[in-house]
Amino acid sequence: MRPMRRQDRAVTDPEKISAVIGGCQVLRLGLQDGKGVYVVPVNFGHVLENGRHVFYIHGAGEGRKADLVRQNGWAGFELDAGYALQGAEEACGYTAAFRSVIGEGPIRVVETAAEKRRGLAAVMRQATGREDWTFPDGAVDAVCVLRLEAAELACKEHL
Ligand SMILES: Cc1cc2nc3c(=O)[nH]c(=O)nc-3n(C[C@H](O)[C@H](O)[C@H](O)COP(=O)(O)OP(=O)(O)OC[C@H]3O[C@@H](n4cnc5c(N)ncnc54)[C@H](O)[C@@H]3O)c2cc1C
Repeated sequence: MRPMRRQDRAVTDPEKISAVIGGCQVLRLGLQDGKGVYVVPVNFGHVLENGRHVFYIHGAGEGRKADLVRQNGWAGFELDAGYALQGAEEACGYTAAFRSVIGEGPIRVVETAAEKRRGLAAVMRQATGREDWTFPDGAVDAVCVLRLEAAELACKEHL
């Protein structure tokens, strides 16, 4: 992974990285499409598996996003939170606080109902902070759940 130029802003503490992800609501998924790139915003769920960050995304099984996931099996992603403009007298003095995460890794359609439920629970936990959701079998069958595992992940914070 290419090192961050501003090492003073790099977040490396695993707990802090999870906390930054926990404060985000939208993941921007980047999928290669021929010579171009398709960037699409989605809600997500987050779980840690043996120290690896795994993101679950739910949605339709058809469409450009789902087609590119099946074609490529690889995605980039970005998440951020806490954006706050910091003003100054001069334009060049302006800056902004933020926390963000950028990475990439393998992405695939989840096949089993058990993992779909795990993904949907993670999506609902991220959105609501609650764990006690249930998912009817029909809804689980109908929905498409994607699993994106971060092979590379960097976290940056500017306070
Ligand atoms: C904050 C936010 C959260 C979202 N959360 C989810 C989620 O959790 N799950 C989910 O499935 N979808 C979510 N969406 C919608 C998502 O961005 C896509 O619109 C949707 O997933 C369909 O993608 P697709 O590639 O199948 O669309 P398609 O209709 O197949 O895309 C075809 C074309 O439509 C255009 N298009 C598609 N989506 C958008 C868009 N959002 N804005 C502008 N143009 C677009 C693009 O030009 C694209 O090439 C969210 C959107 C926002 C803004």
